[in-house]
Amino acid sequence: MSPIALSDFRSVVFFIGAGMSAECGVPTYRGSGGIWAQYDYGEYACQRAFDRNPRKVLDFHELRRKTVLDCAPHAGHHALAKLQAAQPRLHVITQNIDGLLQRAGVHVAAELHGSLWRVRCARHGVHEDLAAARYATRACPDCGAPLRPDITWFEDMVDEDVFARAGELIAGCELFVSVGTSAVVYPAASFIPLAQRKGALMVEINPEATEASKLFMRTLREPASVALVNGFAP
Ligand code: NAD
Repeated sequence: MSPIALSDFRSVVFFIGAGMSAECGVPTYRGSGGIWAQYDYGEYACQRAFDRNPRKVLDFHELRRKTVLDCAPHAGHHALAKLQAAQPRLHVITQNIDGLLQRAGVHVAAELHGSLWRVRCARHGVHEDLAAARYATRACPDCGAPLRPDITWFEDMVDEDVFARAGELIAGCELFVSVGTSAVVYPAASFIPLAQRKGALMVEINPEATEASKLFMRTLREPASVALVNGFAP
């Protein structure tokens, strides 16, 4: 099949999930090697756990940061960065918190579930924390309260502004490419039927069929590192 030319579309959205990072070695959440098969989220990934024991929760997230720092972006990340450099109408929306797209030079329009590389204070807002595996600081510089990771944990509300921005881009796109998402984590997964209802050309990149596969007109049953290199032209 010939590559899809992005220049044929007025607006393009690439919608990214954990499968994009799987080939880099970042564990997924579900399945046998998944994080929540090893760790109880109630102990490490919800506000209640943080309120009980911020130190334990931050230690766990430092481990996650170390895992990600030991990984590097793959050929698909670099291909996406090149496509975007040539085609500014390409918008990237991710469910991932690992920052691997940005490390490859991709501009990300919306991080739906936040970032491992930011922390926030309930009163004083968000701080970048790109230091290293270790957090640069665990206490808010303004009030001294413990800083929590700026990611969407279990039982958290999603960030409405971020979702609204992503929804606008998706409702207006003419080509929607889903990469490595199982399409079962809501509300993010609802963006797939939204794009389809709005009439976008729907393309799925995933080695396996998903619950949303029937909504796609084209499927690339390949790993992201292959499909993003061969499947598209600027
Ligand atoms: P998921 O784990 O539910 O599904 C991953 C999907 O990727 C599967 O359908 C799988 O078949 C596919 N996949 C596996 N290898 C692939 C490859 N090489 N190329 C393309 N696809 C591949 O992930 P999800 O749908 O993103 O939902 C999980 C939630 O967990 C997300 O909201 C995300 O925020 C979060 N999460 C993030 C990370 C991360 O930041 N890297 C990791 C795990 C989970």
